[in-house]
Amino acid sequence: MKFSFVSLFPNLLEFYFQDSILAKARRKNLFEIEFYNPRDYTINSYHKVDDYKIGGGAGLLMQIEPLYNTLNFIKQNEKKSHFVFLTPSAKLFQQKDAKRLSKKEHIVFVCGRYEGIDERVIEIFANEVFSIGDFVLTGGELPALVLCDAILRNVSGVLGNADSLEEESFEDNLLEAPSFAKPFVFENKFKHFYTPSEFLKGNHAKITALKTTLAFCKTKFFRPDLFLEYKRKK
Ligand code: SAM
Repeated sequence: MKFSFVSLFPNLLEFYFQDSILAKARRKNLFEIEFYNPRDYTINSYHKVDDYKIGGGAGLLMQIEPLYNTLNFIKQNEKKSHFVFLTPSAKLFQQKDAKRLSKKEHIVFVCGRYEGIDERVIEIFANEVFSIGDFVLTGGELPALVLCDAILRNVSGVLGNADSLEEESFEDNLLEAPSFAKPFVFENKFKHFYTPSEFLKGNHAKITALKTTLAFCKTKFFRPDLFLEYKRKK
C-alpha cells in the first residue's frame, strides 16, 4: 500500500514514520510513503503558493495552479490513486472509514494550509473529503497523519497481534471495556487499587461476560449516541 502526502511542509510529516510500530511496518515494506510539495509545481518565479480570496475575506488561500499541477502529475502517473482531502468542513472520519480505506492501493492525502484550499481543486480531484473533528487546526498535516495511522492499523501485518483489532473501541458500535495491566493490586502509600477479581479466576466465559458489561457501561456513559446505534443494530 502507498500513501502520498501533498503538503507545503513535508518535514512535519516524515518524523512520524521513524519510530515504533509504523517504522517497523515500513521496514517490512508493508507500506510506502512519499511526499509532494506544491511549491515544486509552481510556474511563477517566486514559487508563490498562496493568494487572496476572490470576493474578499480574511486570510489567504492555497493557490489553485500549484496544487492542480501537483495532483494532476500524481493522477497521470499513478492510475489507482484515491484522493482524500482534509478540511474541517467535511464529514467526520470514523473507524469504518479507516477499515474501508485500508483496502486501497494508493491514497493521496491533500493537506490544506492558510485559510484552506481553492474549492475548484476539491471539485476536480477529491474522491473523499474528511474532517477529524469540530475544531480548526493550522494545517492538514496532523489530520493526514491521523487518518494514515488509523488506516495502517487495519493493514494486515502492521499490528503485532491482529486480534487487538477485534476488541478495539468502535467495533460493533461499542467502546472497549476498561483494561488493566499487571500487577493485580497496585499499592501506593495511601491506597490499594484492585482490578476486578473475575479476571484472575481464568473462567473465560465469565471474563467475556464481564468485559461486555463493562463495555456497555462505558459506552452508555461516554458515548450514548454510539450505544443507541448499537441497540438499533441488534
Ligand atoms: N478556513 C477554513 C475553515 O474555516 O473551514 C479552515 C482552514 S485551516 C486554518 C487550514 C487547513 O487545515 C485546512 O485546509 C485543512 O486542510 C486543515 N484542517 C484544519 N482543521 C481541520 C480539521 N478539523 N479536520 C481536517 N482538516 C483540518
